[in-house]
Formats: sequence, structure tokens, C-alpha cells
Amino acid sequence: MVEPELSNLSHETRTFAPPPELAANANLTAQAYADAKEDRIGFWGKQAERISWAEPFTEVLDWSDAPHSKWFVGGKLNAAYNCVDRHVEAGLGDRVAYHFEAENGESEDITYADLLGRVCQAANALIELGVKTGDRVAIYMPMIPETVVAMLACARLGAPHTVIFAGYSSQAIQDRVQDCGVEVVITADGANRKGKPSALKPTVDKAMENCPAVRKVLVVCRTGQEVAWNDERDLWWHDLVSKQPTTHKCEFFDAEHPLYVMYSSGTTGKPKGVLHTTGGYMVGVSYTHWAVFDLKADKDVYWTAADIGWVTGHSYIVYGPLANATTSVMYEGTPDTPHQGRWWEIIQKYKVTILYCAPTAIRMFMKWGEQIPAKFDLSSLRLIGSVGEPINPEAYMWYRKNIGNDRCPVVDTWWQTENGMILISPLPGVTAGKPGSAMTPLPGVVAAVYDEAGKPVDKGGAGYLVVTEPWPAMLRSLWGDDDRYKNTYWSRFPGVYFSGDGAKLDEDGDFWLLGRVDDVMNVSGHRLSTTEIESALVSHPAVAEAAVVGAADALTGQSIEAFVILRESAHGGGEDVVKQLRDHVADQIGAIAKPRSIMVVPDLPKTRSGKIMRRLLKDIAEKREPGDSTTLADSSVMDLIQANLAGAK
Ligand code: ATP
Ligand code: MG
Repeated sequence: MVEPELSNLSHETRTFAPPPELAANANLTAQAYADAKEDRIGFWGKQAERISWAEPFTEVLDWSDAPHSKWFVGGKLNAAYNCVDRHVEAGLGDRVAYHFEAENGESEDITYADLLGRVCQAANALIELGVKTGDRVAIYMPMIPETVVAMLACARLGAPHTVIFAGYSSQAIQDRVQDCGVEVVITADGANRKGKPSALKPTVDKAMENCPAVRKVLVVCRTGQEVAWNDERDLWWHDLVSKQPTTHKCEFFDAEHPLYVMYSSGTTGKPKGVLHTTGGYMVGVSYTHWAVFDLKADKDVYWTAADIGWVTGHSYIVYGPLANATTSVMYEGTPDTPHQGRWWEIIQKYKVTILYCAPTAIRMFMKWGEQIPAKFDLSSLRLIGSVGEPINPEAYMWYRKNIGNDRCPVVDTWWQTENGMILISPLPGVTAGKPGSAMTPLPGVVAAVYDEAGKPVDKGGAGYLVVTEPWPAMLRSLWGDDDRYKNTYWSRFPGVYFSGDGAKLDEDGDFWLLGRVDDVMNVSGHRLSTTEIESALVSHPAVAEAAVVGAADALTGQSIEAFVILRESAHGGGEDVVKQLRDHVADQIGAIAKPRSIMVVPDLPKTRSGKIMRRLLKDIAEKREPGDSTTLADSSVMDLIQANLAGAK
């Protein structure tokens, strides 16, 4: 049976044209789309000039063994050389690579010349530990400069890194270390979090009980807290790294040499070890960072306010910005330490011009209130971006008005761990943005929305988001599980990449992301997206965040169950708010979308990138024991919700 199409419910019509001055000086014009369309392969060949090749490639793309791609065939390069050395050689050694801001307010400016010295020292240290090209190194670290140094040192040696988000449990470390065959782990004694040291090493120690293959654990002293020590295995970073020479002559590797393995967030199931290689990835992240953020490397101060342990941190804190010789901000702490204006204070201090963050953060700021950013000077900003989830139109409007001063374009960027680089996004100097739409595939990227049968839907239709042509930063496989790679991404619609996300095309042909296909609800024969109902809830002034799931229902197939966090200004909640919200949804999108129940909760279960784990809420709605929660950013949230619901009964 062919399932009915995903219903297309919301009708957002606001648009915001690029500011004329930005458009007049933008890195890209509409011509980029035309060039890429005319000769897509030639277009990517041209973008590869952004990277320094020790040996030139002979072919841009080899797709003869699809779905395995080879990009920039025969080319040789070193990712760390491209991020650091070449800028110092070009006379940019004094440029700041990172303004590092610690949670406690201490700060440090690290120039490209400093970074080069530190990366060489760390690379020499890893050599002393016996790390060779091809060996895997795990990194479980706070948001500190040594994390970037460690990643680049690995890249320099051709030793793929796997960065594990520092909030994860020892079980998560163990799974990744074992899956990836890691022999050396880099960590820290602890991290500064919410004004207190929080331990990291004990979590690694516990994981190591089941990881006999790990020979060495290199430990950065960050908090100075007491740690247990295994003399045979553990070494202090300051003992080993500081004594090393600050120079190291790098080798150049094949374009397809593995750069890193990043495990996906596990929002929908068991994390996948996504493999990225060197040449295509570097071309993809450097091009998209320059194009989407309209980056002017000699003027901008750029800040991706995300964790390095998420792909966004890899591509847009480390590899993309550094390849482009950018000055970035790197921040160690949480947005509310020591006060709720911390981010805005940082923007004011460094005159940040470009901010990139996740909708979950924006909704949290909405919850705290617009009076907080209003106290700071945000006039340096010229462009603001969003990533990680569909941005609700209300959150987009709030962000645009209160952070972007109604002046900065918002770039809503759609991509995944697997994509390596942004694939769908407005171009700030070209595209008129629409709140809630990621707009169109970037130049050189070809995407479509397919129906159940694998036919592209027309304008106005909805279905499955697919990428129909390979792109340079695409994943090459899943680590150690090529069958899962083929099945997960390439079997639903033969020959094209299936993203797992639902999307609709509006009458202009612009893309609107509708959430995971797994999350699509089937209510009395209508296929409804969680995203649209959530956005309708968030558009009510009492609501800060909303999550919607479909629970099995004998009568209707599924019923819509909503969980909401109220804004600070709307406390009390109760029956009255719930009724108002149900009516509001009916009013905004139609009676069919009205949630059967709405539960007011203090928090929602989220991954490290702020994505709501709907499958856990579905377990609650269907009155089951919640499933695997090892990749939750904060594992106490589920207990809090259940206690809250029990109390409300
Ligand atoms: P897993 O695949 O293990 O379940 P995950 O998909 O949550 O984990 P990521 O690769 O970090 O891990 O997230 C990619 C997903 O994030 C996309 O598939 C999409 O659902 C969502 N996403 C990211 N950016 C956007 C955006 N701008 N608009 C809508 N959705 C987005
Ligand atoms: Mg995914």
C-alpha cells in the first residue's frame, strides 16, 4: 500500500530579504548556483583550490563503486597543515585563531603561530607514545584549547580521532573505544561546569576496565582535582607534551585517508560510527564555512557556540574556520554561568560578528526573557545561524529581533553528522529567508523530496528528504560496518542518499524540514509531522519548548501527545493553560493536529546537540519503561519528568 503523503500543515509567509550592504559585498551571488548547475564536478574541482595540496588530484570524483565515493583522487594533503602551518607560512602567524574564554572569566588569545607550536608538540608527544598513521585516538575532553590541539595533532599524524562528548557515561566511552579499536585516549582530570569542577577521569578509568587494548591515557590538568593514577597507563599532558620540540615536519596523506570517526547523536537508535576522510571533507567544510557565513577572514570574529564533541564543533569550530584562517571564539562554560547573559557578554567583549548555535539554546534564551540580551551591546553581529533541529518560526523571529536586532540575516542550516558539511541553507547575500525554512540546497548540492514510491514530489508536496548526488564531505562508510552503511542510507531509494528526515517543498520550491521520518505520526489516516505541531505550541506566548510524539491508539492509529515547558513569565500552568494550548494548535493548524494530552514538564530529554529524544517520551506516553538513554546530555532529566508526572496525577 502506498501511504498517504505527509500532510503539509503550517502556512508561514513572512520573508526577509538580505540587507543591501551585505548583499553588495557578499562572497557569493546567485551566479554560484548557475555555475554549479552547469558543471557540478568542475565546480567542486574549483572549490578544491581553497586547500593546499602537496600533490594535485587527477580526478574530482570517482563514483564508480557507488555508494562508496572517492573525491580528489590521487591528491595528497595534510589537514593540520591546511588548518595551521600554511597560514603561518603566509605571514598570518600573529592572527588570533581562538579567543578562548574560560567559564570563570579567564581568557587567552591563541595565535596561529602559538597553535602551530602546540600542535607540533602534541604530535611529537603522540609519536613518543607510539601512535602511528592509521591508529585511532579517542578524545574525551572539556571545551579547552588542548582539545583542538589534540585533534590537529592526530590529523597531522594521519591517526583518526574519535571525539567523545564529555558528558557521556563510561559505558558510552567503552562502546566507542571498543568499536573504533582505540589504543590511546586523551582526557582531562575534570572540566569546569556551572561554577564547579566536574570530574572526567574517573569516567574514563571506569571505561578502561573493559578496554584492555588501550595502552596509554594522556591527561590534561584542567581543574587540579584529585585523580586516581595508573602508573603504567596514565601520563600527564604537561609532563609529556611541554618538553617536546615545537616543530614537526608533517607527512602528506592520500585524499581518502581517514580523518576522523564521529558517532552520531543516537537520537533515533544506536549511534553510528560515521567515517570522514581528508580531502573532500576539508574542501566541503572550508567552502561552506566561507559561503554560508559570508566569512571575511581578516575582519570577522566568528563563534560557533556548540560543543566540539558534536559534528558541528568538528566542522565549524575546528576544521572549517581554521582552514579559512578565521578568528574564532571558543567558550568553555554553560550559558548561565555565572549569569544568564554570559553569551551576550562574550559577544560584546570580542565584538563577535557571526554567531552559530542551536534552536534549543535560542528557546532557552526565550524562556529567560528578552530583557537579558537587551543589557548588552550586540551591535557587532552581522549574521546569525542555527543548526541541529528545525528552528520554530517563533524562535527564528525572537532570535532575529532580540539577537540580530532585526538586521542580521538568519541562516538556518540543515545537515547531519553523515553529511560532514552544511547541505541546505540560505546564502545570506542572495536568499530571502523564511522563518522555519532551511531554503535551498547550497551550490553544488542536489537534494529532493521523494514520495513513498521514490518519485520527486511537486512544489507544495511533502515526503522524504534525499540527496541525489554525492558531495565532497559525505561520509565514506560506517566504521567497521559497511553493510549498515549501505542499508541505512542507500537502500530505501536505490542510488540516492536517504537522510531519514521528512521535508516539504513550498510553492517556491523551498525546503521545510519536518523532523525524523521515524517520528511522523499517523492520526486517522493523516500523516502529521511532529515539528509543525511543536512550532504551533511554541508560537503560544506561554510556551518555551514543546515535544510531540504519537502514541499507539486503538481508535485513531496514533494519538498526539505533547510535552511542554512553560516560559518563566507563564508559571502556574494547570488545566487552563492546557486547554488554551490545545485550542491554539487547532486554531494555528487545524483540529486534526490538536494534541490529545499536553503534559507540563520541567525539562525535556535531549542529546548533546540539544535534540529532543522523542523515543523516550513515546515510551512514557505509551506507559513503558524508557529505553536506552546513554546518549542523553543529562541523564537525570527522565527521572525528573517521571516524578513530575507522578506528582501531577
Ligand atoms: P542519530 O542519527 O544517531 O539518531 P542524530 O541524527 O540526532 O543521531 P546528528 O547527525 O547530530 O545526529 O543530527 C542530524 C539531524 O539533526 C538531522 O537528521 C535533522 O533531523 C536534524 N537537523 C539538523 N539541522 C537541522 C535544521 N537546520 N533543520 C531541521 N533539522 C535539522
Ligand atoms: Mg541521524
